[in-house]
Amino acid sequence: MKLHTRYTDISDLLAIEDTPTAVSDPNLLLFNANLAREFDISTDPEFLAKRLSGSEVDNAVKPVALGYSGHQFGHFSPRLGDGRAHLLGAIEDKHGALWDLQLKGAGATVFSRGGDGRCALGPAIREYIMSEALAALGIATTRCLAVVTTGETVYRQPPRPGAVVTRVANSHIRVGSFQYLATQGDIEGLEKLVEYAISCHFPDIKSEGEQRITDFLAAVIDKQIELVVSWMRIGFIHGVMNTDNTLISGETIDYGPCAMMNQFDFETVFSSIDHQGRYAFGNQPTIANWNCARLAESFLPLFKDEERALSELSAVINGFAAKFNTAFDTMWRLKLGLDGEQAGDQALVSELLTLMKQHKLDYTNTFNALTESLRTDFPLPDSLKEWLCEWRLRTSGESYGVMRAVNPAVIPRNHNIEMILTEYEQTGTSSSIGELLKVLENPYSYEERLAAWYQPPHDGDSHYQTFCGT
Ligand code: AMP
Ligand code: MG
Ligand code: MG
Repeated sequence: MKLHTRYTDISDLLAIEDTPTAVSDPNLLLFNANLAREFDISTDPEFLAKRLSGSEVDNAVKPVALGYSGHQFGHFSPRLGDGRAHLLGAIEDKHGALWDLQLKGAGATVFSRGGDGRCALGPAIREYIMSEALAALGIATTRCLAVVTTGETVYRQPPRPGAVVTRVANSHIRVGSFQYLATQGDIEGLEKLVEYAISCHFPDIKSEGEQRITDFLAAVIDKQIELVVSWMRIGFIHGVMNTDNTLISGETIDYGPCAMMNQFDFETVFSSIDHQGRYAFGNQPTIANWNCARLAESFLPLFKDEERALSELSAVINGFAAKFNTAFDTMWRLKLGLDGEQAGDQALVSELLTLMKQHKLDYTNTFNALTESLRTDFPLPDSLKEWLCEWRLRTSGESYGVMRAVNPAVIPRNHNIEMILTEYEQTGTSSSIGELLKVLENPYSYEERLAAWYQPPHDGDSHYQTFCGT
């Protein structure tokens, strides 16, 4: 496992050396062999348990905790940072690309602010299943290489077994990373971070000077739009789209309070602390736009003339809505397999959404049924009868293939994840996680024998709640 240092030469503030705290009894619980094959990593469970719990570290490359700020639920915290994460370094894949290898839950850091730097087993397993499910759904996301149990208790309400998650990401450069250097007044570091982010994620940007910064902002916006549209295509609710949880690479990060929507409703919220519905399913585009505006603000010190900076950056930010609407429109067209473009198409989509909300139809299963109905006499909800006649007129021989590629048959449903977490809590193991992970590897293929995994929750998740950072 050869590691490279990363981020340390951008700014002294950004990456602070910090050693993980060894745990008493590390054991490898989950290991992502498919992902591991991309890298040159030993698969010896004992070695992995020690290294991926932070109990043993590579002496050549010092682990670091990254500094960042964040707007949390709209309120600015100037100094958050990795309070329970250690970046071990970057690891090279077979194609020579670098990936961050980060431990979450390996002890307190300089950024812990009184927190214990630890992670409970349940959220660790949840992150593993959810991020791997999103990856298989073709959605940009950080990945999970492993979950190691620590043999220690983390003191939550109630106390729980502890675990360390190994997260793999293209990078951990957040909107909050730029906010941090800007707030700290480290303009040189800020400039370097812009350059580094461009070199990692947007190497096609060739412009110079101030134009380079606005081009960078526009490229980040495109990535955020792509991400949010792909979330909404499959019914994913991130749940905590704070600026510190927004990666410049456009990968999904921070699976704390996320959940899948079952019954269709733009207002769906599961996070126990999101009382205003700030991060509701249908509010995600607005928030992504808002977060990009905060990123733009952090660029202001890089411009010579503030008036001009404001007008140029605002112009880019103001372009978000139109770009999003185009991408969102395309998403619905694909989900319905519409043939060409016609005047009544938007009305067709909104009529369907109105009916789905009114009749509490399951988002995934409805689009799956529409898809399969083009091939077999798949049962469809009676409530859609009239609408179906209109829709069928707009499909073609190509529709099935188009729809099958974008409408999943299976998603990581909340109740299935909870069932597995309960199994772990009660018995220390799970008899069904292997099967669920396997099923989630092929989310776009419908197979009748897997019907049990397709069932929506009995109560429509009406009482379901998710929690941040436990
Ligand atoms: P999150 O809700 O996971 O995005 O975390 C928000 C902030 O709280 C980040 O700066 C985390 O590093 C920090 N944090 C969350 N949980 C802990 C913990 N158990 N110990 C220390 N810091 C934490
Ligand atoms: Mg430490
Ligand atoms: Mg976070």
